[in-house]
Formats: sequence, C-alpha cells, structure tokens
Amino acid sequence: MSELRKDPIVGRWVIISPERGKRPSDYASRKTEKKEGFCPLCPGNESLTPPEVFAFRKDRTDPDGPGWNIRVVPNKFPALSSEGETNRQCVGIYDKMNGIGAHEVVIETPDHGAELPNLPLSSIKKILFVFKMRTEELAKDPRFRYIVIFKNRGLEAGASLQHSHSQIIALPIVPKRILEELKGGKRYYRDHDRCIFCEMIEQEAQLGMRLIEENKDFVSFSPFAARFPFETWILPRFHASSYSTIRQPQYQTLAEILSSTLKRLDEVLVEPPYNMVFHTAPIMDEELPYFHWHIEIIPKVTRVAGFEWGTGFYINPTPPEQSAAYLREVALS
Ligand code: ZN
Ligand code: ZN
Repeated sequence: MSELRKDPIVGRWVIISPERGKRPSDYASRKTEKKEGFCPLCPGNESLTPPEVFAFRKDRTDPDGPGWNIRVVPNKFPALSSEGETNRQCVGIYDKMNGIGAHEVVIETPDHGAELPNLPLSSIKKILFVFKMRTEELAKDPRFRYIVIFKNRGLEAGASLQHSHSQIIALPIVPKRILEELKGGKRYYRDHDRCIFCEMIEQEAQLGMRLIEENKDFVSFSPFAARFPFETWILPRFHASSYSTIRQPQYQTLAEILSSTLKRLDEVLVEPPYNMVFHTAPIMDEELPYFHWHIEIIPKVTRVAGFEWGTGFYINPTPPEQSAAYLREVALS
C-alpha cells in the first residue's frame, strides 16, 4: 500500500508509492553526454563573458584571460538587473517591483570535461569558499533580502551550458519556499524549544535507514517525506542558520561529503541531471535558533505533471529508505 507522509518542516504531504517499485535502472537511461564544440566558459573565451568579479588564478595572469582555476562572472543574460531601485508599489490588489537583483556564474573548473564531484577536494573547498565570499559581498547591498546558491546539471535540469558551473542570485525579496521553511521552523521552535532540523538529524542518525553518509561536521540523508526519487539533503550537524557562518575546517568536511554524495548519485543513476540548492537564512545579522541551513539535491528523473502542479502533492515511486540504501551501498573509490 502507498503511504502518505507529512514533511515536518513545511507540512507538505507526499505520496510514497512503493508498489510502483521504481529501481535506479528505471531512471538511469539519460546519461548526461557532454558535447564538444564551442563553449563560452572555457579558457581562451574569457572576453565572451562579462568581466570577472572574482577569480582564483595563477600568479601574474591578467583578469579576463586564461590562467584561472575558478572564475566568477555576472550572468550574460541575468534574470534580474543590478541597476536601479526596487521601487515596490501596489496597483489595486496587485503588488509589483522592479526586477532588481544580481546574477553571477561560478565557473568551477577550467576543464570543460570535468564534473564537480570529481575535482580535487582542494578545488571543491575553494568553490565552497567562493560561494560564501560572494554571498557576503552581495549581502552588503541593502536592496537585497535573500541570496540563493544553486547548480543545474544537465539539460533536463535547466543547464544551458555543459561546462561545470554554479549560480548565485541575489533577490530583493525572501522566496516563498524559504518563508515556508522559516515559518515551519519557528512554529516547531515555539512548541518544542528546539530546532526541528537538529531534531531531524538526531533521529535520522539514530534510525540509520535513510542515512547515506556522515562525517564529523555533516550528514546526508534521504528525507522522510522526500518529494522525488533520490532526493538528498546535506546538513551541518552543528546548528547554524546561515551558510555564511561556515569556517575552516568545515570547508574540508563539506567538500568531502558533497563530493561523495554526488558521486553516489552519479554511480546509482548514471550521471543524472540534477538541481542542487543551498537553503540558507535570509540576509540578517543574527543567527536564527529555528532555521538550519542545508543543501537539497534533486535528481531530475521523474516529471512533475498535472497532479503535482494542481495539488502541490508529490508522488514518489521510490521510498527514501530504498533510495538511501542504494546510495549507501555504492563503493567509492
Ligand atoms: Zn567549456
Ligand atoms: Zn538546527
């Protein structure tokens, strides 16, 4: 029989439908093939992106030329523009504002064929540092309320460029999904005097059946009310509401678990397209006791169809206990 499960943070119900019994091989037919050909993110083509805002580069190499290891550039086709004021106003019952924001691309490697989890840990650490550094920089702009770090891998996941990259978008509002998590976390904190994410981590570590991996500072598991097959979360085991609180030596432990978690997904689902999103607290000075930053990874192996769009209800044909078992069993080299 299928089972209805409620996400304890946002209160969203999902249908876990194990009799559909989908195994990884049912999903693993669309390996992300990298095409050769022209790439604006490759070394030598720096003049085709807007001027870099940051780069780790070899000594004595000039900005916007080759010699970089990680390069951050504004998006050439930004979703939001950085010039002007937000100018929020009401028109009758409607609310609107100017499309103000920032949209940056973090080019993770000069190597066109490389993928994030297979980069050396020292490079992944630097990428994680760049995320924090750019977040802090953008947070200084008083027009911005929220900064989202995300990565689309593969065409089906919305990546228009194949060269390994992530994106950072600064927004003039706090997005609805985050507001829901904040609200749910606050409610739980009011009733139980504890962070629900901390409780979840404790329970998952104790039960073990949805656990994928853990190290000193981080844990990865398939959430109880997973919306999608192989949905995977990575959370710090210590309480912290904002990604920008990350410090040495956590870059190392996060790089380790991020790399191995993505490698597990690549192994089980044969390099699936996926979205990876950092959920962090809105821009503010204080630490929130009721919110806990985390990374959500959603492999794009099923399609969101009418039922999901119409109801906000998800049908997940692979129970998270099964997803976790498949991912746990991968022997990492
Ligand atoms: Zn390239
Ligand atoms: Zn917590």
